[in-house]
Amino acid sequence: MQPSIQKRTSRSILTKGSGFLNGYSHTLNPYAGCAFGCSYCYVRRMPIALFREEDWGEWVDIKENAVDLVKKEIPKARKKGEVSIFMSSSTDPYQPIEFKTNLTRRLLEAMVEEMPDFLFLQTRSPLVTRDIDLLKKFGKKVLVSMTVETDLDSVRKIFAPSAPPIAARLKALQTLRANGIPVQAAVAPLLPCSEHFPKKLAEVTDRLTLDDFFMGDGSGGKRTEQLGIRKLFEDAGLEDWYQRKAYLKIKKRLQAFFPDSAIYISQEGFSPPEEGSY
Ligand code: SF4
Repeated sequence: MQPSIQKRTSRSILTKGSGFLNGYSHTLNPYAGCAFGCSYCYVRRMPIALFREEDWGEWVDIKENAVDLVKKEIPKARKKGEVSIFMSSSTDPYQPIEFKTNLTRRLLEAMVEEMPDFLFLQTRSPLVTRDIDLLKKFGKKVLVSMTVETDLDSVRKIFAPSAPPIAARLKALQTLRANGIPVQAAVAPLLPCSEHFPKKLAEVTDRLTLDDFFMGDGSGGKRTEQLGIRKLFEDAGLEDWYQRKAYLKIKKRLQAFFPDSAIYISQEGFSPPEEGSY
């Protein structure tokens, strides 16, 4: 189903970093809404989604003045201190409408001119590789974090059927890394996976973050319960994976392929990285 698309004018585009993202001075969402509509998306429970008539995943607002706002707001924010931006916290900046609008690309162009001190680019879309030319200009001031919750596309289809296929995300990580763009795989939230997952990740990234529904939903797993995710696990006969300690098993497997210093857990993997750590 195609989402309903609307253009909107925003009053501002940089939002103060808070909660899980309090290590950032700002978050930046080029869109409101997200066509990937992942079942476990915590934004489903936020006012922005609850007060809409359409279901989450069925609407997207384009913030059409976002580029003008960024050009104004970054220099203003810089006067108050370091500008570190998390893009994006409640949408995917490379969701399908981005093919048409180029909004995220235009934001990157603006940021090349008004470079933030650090940009964390969170996506699960291979479309990010389109912007390698711009990302190169950020040097070490950018980290592209690609969500890869599992290596099993059959599992991805249960939990996030409208999100890009896993193989394409792994390939995108490989392409970004080959072009010298700092990357990590975000195994977040961890979904049931095969024993080959760590090896597949090691082939495309040197750094990863592991998170699950209990550590990462900001409420100790309560939000995830409210979203009915337990039932998806149960219906698929995968309930053994819906456990607080399931991630430890995967962490151990990952340690066979990555040094401990390359494995980040939950919030630390989404915080601005320390200099020299990647
Ligand atoms: S891609 Fe991110 S913002 Fe979009 S639905 Fe999935 S979890 Fe939510």
